[in-house]
Amino acid sequence: MLCAAGQNRPATSCRFWTPPRSAANPEHGRADSMQSARLSSGNARDPTIRIAPAHLVVPGHLWYHVFLIFGEFCGVYLFDLALIQSSPSSIPAAWPGLTLSEFARACGQSREQAALIYKQLMRSADARSLPVVSRSVESQGTVKFCLPAGEYNGMPLETESVLLPMTNAHGGRWYTLCVSSQIGCRMGCTFCQTGRMGLLANLTAGHIVNQFLTARHLLKQAAEAPNAAREPVAAAAGSGVCRAGRLSREDIRNVVFMGMGEPLDNFDAVVQAIRTLCDPAGIALPLSRITVSTVGRIDGLRRLAALNLVGLKLAISISAANDTLRNMIMPVNRAMPLAALKRALLDFPRRPSTRFFIEYVLIADVNDSPAHAEELVRWCEGLPVKVNVIPYNPQQSAIYGVPTPERTIAFLETLRVRGIVAKRRTTIGQDLMGACGQLGNAAQRR
Ligand code: SF4
Repeated sequence: MLCAAGQNRPATSCRFWTPPRSAANPEHGRADSMQSARLSSGNARDPTIRIAPAHLVVPGHLWYHVFLIFGEFCGVYLFDLALIQSSPSSIPAAWPGLTLSEFARACGQSREQAALIYKQLMRSADARSLPVVSRSVESQGTVKFCLPAGEYNGMPLETESVLLPMTNAHGGRWYTLCVSSQIGCRMGCTFCQTGRMGLLANLTAGHIVNQFLTARHLLKQAAEAPNAAREPVAAAAGSGVCRAGRLSREDIRNVVFMGMGEPLDNFDAVVQAIRTLCDPAGIALPLSRITVSTVGRIDGLRRLAALNLVGLKLAISISAANDTLRNMIMPVNRAMPLAALKRALLDFPRRPSTRFFIEYVLIADVNDSPAHAEELVRWCEGLPVKVNVIPYNPQQSAIYGVPTPERTIAFLETLRVRGIVAKRRTTIGQDLMGACGQLGNAAQRR
């Protein structure tokens, strides 16, 4: 595959690449086209029975471009990953976390030379180039899968990601992928299973992008399975991803950093992963389809603001709009209280039409009264927000209770009456321990 880039490689090493004619060797390309013509005759010694005269034979390097354009046009790539694998030493191990420019530098090639293989890796990576999924479970279209991510004190670690099937009122269907940025988390939110693990490891940008590539590969594999029913995901209740049906690159429309970890606590890797996911030469996900969810790390918000990633969506986990209660359920509030968090959000660069998502985990008898809703309304004043109310999802050895449907509706109504756009977040993946606040392997607690 790298031979397509044409550097550090003998001219005869690949059937898809022919070295271009150079000033130093003006006959190079011509000689090659002559050779093609002779071979096409089936008798190199007898020029009289050539099928085509030399001047009509397209030189090899032009065929290369013809193949490339045709492949692009058809949405397929003519170069097999086997070619990449035939020269694994040329591919930097960290490739999933690199933008094209970084990948080219790591390969010692120009951007143009490295572009083809980069695109191939990012758009068509399959089981041969991706980590092996260590566990996966599926229910009603929701898929939770784990990838190996090193070890901690001899204990193997895993990322956890969740593919969530989504639909809209117009029949649109897509997936949202929830990715992890850390193994465990040190923020200690009391309603979250991950918080009880403590922080075990920061993931690299490669680990994060690999979650995306693997999710896409799982969908593709399911859609190509011989017995895969060609049915829309949403209509195939209970059959899940195995009935993924039509597949396109658009299948994973959104990526949300709402899996394990606080993304702004692993700032550099998360920003690098975002840059890689958005690189037009590779995955090319629009920035506006990525959401970073934070508990309100003000230092991280300021660093993010300085990068001016206009279009990136932000979700802020609030879960209580008074400092006393928030100190109790979200310890980060002791260092970064609500007023300072609001100031950081007001300063955050955004498009005029973009709103902040305010995530509110509703816990029975803790933060679910109309008075709590009124506090939230007051805190939101002046901020462009959309509030997602998430009824608490039970966990192993849960210390909180699930709010009743009546309390949830009353809470939402209080917000709406006061002019706040609010909706109840649909709970999916609860039975897989893949819903909000449920990720984290209890066996991996520190
Ligand atoms: S809610 Fe997020 S920030 Fe809080 S402990 Fe869980 S993973 Fe960490």
